[in-house]
Amino acid sequence: MHSHSSPAPLRADVVVVGAGIVGLAHAWHAVRAGLSVVVVDRDDRAVGASVRNFGHICTTAQSGRAREYAVVARETWLRAGAEAGLAVSAHGTVVAARSVAEMAVLDEFASGRDRDEVCVLGADETADRLGWAVPGLVGGALMPRDLRVDSPAAVPALTAHLARLGVVFRFGENVVDVVDGVRTTHGSYVADTVIVCVGHDVDRLFPVLASDGEVRRCRLRMMEIDPPRGVRIDPGVFTGSSLLRYGGFAETAAADTVRAELASLDPDMLTHTVNLMCTQRPDGRVVIGDTHHYERTLDPFDDEALDALLLDRFCGLFGVDDLVVRRRWRGVYAASAQGPYLHASPRADVVVASVTSGIGMTTAFGFARDVLAQRGLIP
Ligand SMILES: Cc1cc2nc3c(=O)[nH]c(=O)nc-3n(C[C@H](O)[C@H](O)[C@H](O)COP(=O)(O)OP(=O)(O)OC[C@H]3O[C@@H](n4cnc5c(N)ncnc54)[C@H](O)[C@@H]3O)c2cc1C
Repeated sequence: MHSHSSPAPLRADVVVVGAGIVGLAHAWHAVRAGLSVVVVDRDDRAVGASVRNFGHICTTAQSGRAREYAVVARETWLRAGAEAGLAVSAHGTVVAARSVAEMAVLDEFASGRDRDEVCVLGADETADRLGWAVPGLVGGALMPRDLRVDSPAAVPALTAHLARLGVVFRFGENVVDVVDGVRTTHGSYVADTVIVCVGHDVDRLFPVLASDGEVRRCRLRMMEIDPPRGVRIDPGVFTGSSLLRYGGFAETAAADTVRAELASLDPDMLTHTVNLMCTQRPDGRVVIGDTHHYERTLDPFDDEALDALLLDRFCGLFGVDDLVVRRRWRGVYAASAQGPYLHASPRADVVVASVTSGIGMTTAFGFARDVLAQRGLIP
């Protein structure tokens, strides 16, 4: 797929900068509409947020525009999975509630949704769905429409599939400017439309746009552990802290009580904006996280106390004394106080599209379809 010796296609209907999920989602819709598409990425393969996440397609918990995008994205993941032969798990999400306040959020949330979207569960049923007995479990909820992918496998599989559909990938080319086309460290491209999907690095190419849009970097800690007691966890797993993060939950009146409860019982969870959640990889290892720190320039030092905090809270969730960590990493995504999407056209032929909240896997396919439709490139 990558060769600097073959001549670069100099012209395409659409040039996409960035081969993360947002760039791939634009390429997906554009190539299927019959447009010629080139995707340029500075790295030899995608190694950004799109392969560092939980792979959790949390459709149900979204609200507003993100929910509309998530519905489109869900269908697209299922189609892409079938077409590209990438595994899309449809076991939904289970929320483990460990307090009455958390159950109140789930009850309120469920009362505004269809029964096939969210189903409130008792403690025993929640434990059955999860696959292990959570200490202190009060109850929970199942959101059966949510999906899960193994991102480090899914992103390359999607890339290879798009290449088969005719998308030209140019990896290992850093885009240095987007003026009259795209200029890279290796050449230049001309396009009717350039779509810049560089995630949190918008400020490198469009500093004014990034500062007007209040785009910052969100730094997250992640780990992969051996499954405690060999547990098999089919769904994605949310906990009480997740109820403060996703629009659908956070907009309930009862969410305030969960926040107050956490502030008094476990304030470190709020200080480091922990969203205690996990997903299991096909090989059985469990991806756990995460903490959130917001900054324009990333602090280079990772504090061991944050990993200790996460491991301690996961020991509590799994009811074990210790966990075996196999891998640790840092993730970074774009964040903005102005909302979950940056969508701007700084020049007539250029569109900048970034998901500015941690929901790119869940919504990028819907966002990209809207970006392309607003430009009249697809119906
Ligand atoms: C730890 C973590 C957990 C998450 N969990 C979830 C989850 O479970 N569910 C969910 O929905 N979302 C989740 N997210 C959010 C989601 O991963 C992101 O919203 C999404 O991956 C952003 O995609 P992207 O394509 O914009 O960014 P990226 O994947 O970072 O891709 C941007 C690409 O642009 C390229 N690029 C940048 N600058 C240039 C340049 N000048 N020239 C060429 N190429 C360039 C980079 O090399 C990179 O490949 C999580 C994020 C993190 C970090």
